[in-house]
Amino acid sequence: MAARYGRLVAEEIVVVGGGLAGLRTVEELRSAGYEGSLTLIGAETRPPYDRPPLSKQLMTGAVDDTTLRADLDSLGARIRLGERAEQLTAGSVRTTEAEYGFDRLVIATGARPIGLPGPGKQRFLRSIDDALAVRGVLIPGRRLAIVGAGWIGAELATAAAGRGCQVSVVEAAPAPLAVALGAGVGALTIPWYEQAGVELLLGCPVESVQDGGLSLTGGGWLAADEIVTAVGVRPDVGWLGSSDIALDNGVAVDEQLRSSLPGVYAAGDCAAFWSGRFKRRLRTEHWDGALRAPAVLAANLLGGAENYDPVPYFWSEQFGRMMQYVGHHAGADRLIWRGDPAGPRWAACWLAGERLVAVLTVDLPKDLMQGRRLIEAAAPVDPGKLADPGVQLRSAATP
Ligand SMILES: Cc1cc2nc3c(=O)[nH]c(=O)nc-3n(C[C@H](O)[C@H](O)[C@H](O)COP(=O)(O)OP(=O)(O)OC[C@H]3O[C@@H](n4cnc5c(N)ncnc54)[C@H](O)[C@@H]3O)c2cc1C
Repeated sequence: MAARYGRLVAEEIVVVGGGLAGLRTVEELRSAGYEGSLTLIGAETRPPYDRPPLSKQLMTGAVDDTTLRADLDSLGARIRLGERAEQLTAGSVRTTEAEYGFDRLVIATGARPIGLPGPGKQRFLRSIDDALAVRGVLIPGRRLAIVGAGWIGAELATAAAGRGCQVSVVEAAPAPLAVALGAGVGALTIPWYEQAGVELLLGCPVESVQDGGLSLTGGGWLAADEIVTAVGVRPDVGWLGSSDIALDNGVAVDEQLRSSLPGVYAAGDCAAFWSGRFKRRLRTEHWDGALRAPAVLAANLLGGAENYDPVPYFWSEQFGRMMQYVGHHAGADRLIWRGDPAGPRWAACWLAGERLVAVLTVDLPKDLMQGRRLIEAAAPVDPGKLADPGVQLRSAATP
């Protein structure tokens, strides 16, 4: 049955991708009053589940299941699990099982891990099945090599060391988290590995994965019983290759999450959206983005014209610490330390001119919240106050 919302008579909305962004889109559409036909297509056979706990509570054994709380029946949607979209043509999506016509389409296919060359067995950490398989091999004394000292690599190292494995983390860059934070900031986490009994090999590119270990560039060898590759992800948009949709490190969407094709939208890890705030295209791999973008998406699918322009937010729990990052520091020209970076709690504040554009905190959640508000307000800040942990971060705004 067609439902009328402003200008739109929506008869069929199809959402491809059964992760957080896909599920939230269906929920937001229904809570916005959309009563039309709705289909959610997900390649995985499991109902939508949460990924952040996979490298944290699930890996330590605190939980076994991370299924998202949702009453799928009450959403009144056709839920097609275990079905992969393979092709997008004008007004229809072909999957491994069927063809679905749509008036509006949402692409929420997330991201998939990047693999390394070589014939050896490499594990990944993206799906719940990946995570359960990795957890199953975290046996005391087992030699685990993790390729990549990014967020996921660090979290897995934390859990694996806690379960008694002999853990080596191999990283091509000169510091952990170098891609996300820059080598200077990432280097502050180096001692955390040693304190946890984890071997950290930096500046050490892996050439290939072999049976029984890693071939390192330059001829080195690292023996391992198990290998987990955690060198990043790519947006899962390969299935769109034969369509005319514009791709730019993911599905290129404007500030209203509209793609280059009429009636086709995208959100979550697969979407590269235009940020008016940061004056660039951003593709974040953040839970918070997959949670929040669907409200904007639903409004726009139903005829609205809302902008999605968040201050991106991400967290990571590693080596007993809570790291939180808010903002985007690519355009920053100055870095200010708040507190002693050798101590247990500190923050890094990035400035572009007089404005705060990003904050990283270690075990300082209050600073994170106040920093977020300063970034949202785009107000000039006093660098002296920012640097003084005795002064509340919010007081750094200059009148
Ligand atoms: C181990 C792990 C830990 C993380 N920890 C954190 C954290 O601490 N903090 C944080 O902010 N973020 C974290 N993240 C990132 C966060 O989980 C993601 O940003 C979020 O899951 C993105 O949601 P999404 O719905 O866009 O994509 P996804 O969760 O990737 O869901 C996309 C879904 O689409 C399906 N799909 C793909 N292609 C097709 C197709 N062609 N047809 C049908 N379905 C398809 C996929 O199978 C998948 O189920 C973590 C991620 C992982 C993997």
